[in-house]
Amino acid sequence: MEKYEVLKNIFGYDSFRRGQEEIIDNILQGRDVLGIMPTGAGKSVCFQVPALMMSGVTLVVSPLISLMKDQVRQLIQNGVAAAYLNSSLSAGQYRKASYNILHGMYKIIYVAPERLATSGFLELANSINISMVAVDEAHCVSQWGHDFRPSYLKISDFLDFLKQRPIFAAFTATATKNVREDIKNLLKLNNPYCVVTGFERKNLYFDVIQTSEKGKLAHLLKLLDKVRDESVIIYCGTRKKVEEVFEILARRGFRAARYHAGLSDVERRRNQEDFIYDKKNIFVATNAFGMGINKADVRMIVHFNMPKNIENYYQEAGRAGRDGGHAKCIMLYSDSDFYLNSFFINNVVNDQLNAEQLENIRNQDYKNLSKIIRYCKGNSCYQQYILEYFGENSNSCKNCGNCLSEFEQVDLTTQARKIFSCIVETDEKYGINMVCDILKGSKNSRILALGYDSILAYGALKKIKLVDLKSYIRELIFDGYLSLDNGEYPTLKMTQKAKNVLIEGLNQRVILKRRKSRKNIFKSDKTQINDKILYDAISRLRTSLADSQNVPSYIIFSNKTIIHICKALPTKIDDLFEITGLGQNKIKKYGKYIIDVVNNYLVNASK
Ligand code: ADP
Repeated sequence: MEKYEVLKNIFGYDSFRRGQEEIIDNILQGRDVLGIMPTGAGKSVCFQVPALMMSGVTLVVSPLISLMKDQVRQLIQNGVAAAYLNSSLSAGQYRKASYNILHGMYKIIYVAPERLATSGFLELANSINISMVAVDEAHCVSQWGHDFRPSYLKISDFLDFLKQRPIFAAFTATATKNVREDIKNLLKLNNPYCVVTGFERKNLYFDVIQTSEKGKLAHLLKLLDKVRDESVIIYCGTRKKVEEVFEILARRGFRAARYHAGLSDVERRRNQEDFIYDKKNIFVATNAFGMGINKADVRMIVHFNMPKNIENYYQEAGRAGRDGGHAKCIMLYSDSDFYLNSFFINNVVNDQLNAEQLENIRNQDYKNLSKIIRYCKGNSCYQQYILEYFGENSNSCKNCGNCLSEFEQVDLTTQARKIFSCIVETDEKYGINMVCDILKGSKNSRILALGYDSILAYGALKKIKLVDLKSYIRELIFDGYLSLDNGEYPTLKMTQKAKNVLIEGLNQRVILKRRKSRKNIFKSDKTQINDKILYDAISRLRTSLADSQNVPSYIIFSNKTIIHICKALPTKIDDLFEITGLGQNKIKKYGKYIIDVVNNYLVNASK
């Protein structure tokens, strides 16, 4: 079969996505490749298609059992002979798999990196014809990355040991330059053909809701009400927060599960499976819940707390919509997120580093923190901001919370002048809390002892709510009127811009831009199709097929496939060859059931 036939007949897709074809062509010409493509771009197809076209076996090195299991299940659904070798197999199962490998029963074999260094596996590998070694999640080789695995460093030794060097293909979604260089050097790729497709995720909607810490829950509940059955991950900053949010959701009858490092292995695994098998649709987790989550149909990721930098945020939010369908990534931001992260930065301990090195790390962390705060508070395109952070030029996405919002100008001159005066009168010695206390006319003993109850600014903004006052100050920082230095007790300083406001009087207005209204973004994939009844009927069919085989439903076929069925209304088996995501094997196994459901629906609809 040639590549287009493999793509259509095995995977059920009509055309290659960006980057896929050139990677496949280079592999087929015998060249090493390095594919840097965002999550959900379709990296697996890049090595699975040529694997099926080459004469020997392809080994795929993958860091996690759950990832391997998932990919092998998908391949088997597509009728490809595939297996995995990792510590989840019993001795008997391992023996059987090895026997099958020796007898040429598999085309694609997933292996854990630790396995490569064992003498048994080395012997096995040299007894078969390996045409390609593909390394998935290749950034795990780099200590700069977020998922460093020492066992990845052994991969190049394994290649050296083989009698014949196979083609070597490495893939990752991690963008940073250091990591890219590490992959090339540490994996010893031979003059690889590199493809970087860009990091834009067109199917993701990004938004930030600015609120108080207490206000977050109400926003979360509102969001969850709109996506009652769909898969949602809620990332929280601490274990305690996971417990709190989980308790509330469980009490309110949501089908929620939780995940954090404080739970036992058994409970973590059980909760994760409940989510993956759709027994629970909401997963409340700390960032300990990471790479292992490859559930393709996550429709919304809510960050209950802001992560410490853009890189972590994009990594976590990027777990939404891996199936290519629309998904939402929403951050709930309050100023407490800034304080929590500052606290973490100030309290970093590392015995291996000296004071100067620690200080450098702190400064770098603060820089990164200020960039993510700019993301949260900014008025311009969110996706564009993220892509620029990764050094990529792009246009505004026309699809994020900011792109879809109307803004209004708010004149804050009067309030700003009082805030500035207070800072000047107290010699720029204090942080946000103290400045607010003075402006609110607090009678706390420190203020009275310092005599600040007799300055002009004392009580000057007492009618404004404390949360609003804090929020004004944050806006003024964001707009460059004030700066907040780093350190354990950050103090507010006037910039020239603020000084001009005081010097030039009321002619110099302080105008801030605020979001006025946002378009309703909850027109889900389901409502884009003509009929929800058919969508639900095919979904139910998918669930029962998945249950009977004990696999998660997205392994049977994706939501995109269901939507396509609803639009195309196939009434005979031949029509199914036009549906995206249905290869020959799935049509053979499930085609009849799908056609029955559609025909049934059409009969009922015509009554
Ligand atoms: P990645 O590993 O890059 O995160 P995957 O390989 O898991 O992405 O692919 C993401 C989704 O895109 C899968 O559902 C996959 O089947 C689908 N996909 C891959 N290539 C294509 C294609 N050419 N056309 C349509 N869908 C595709």
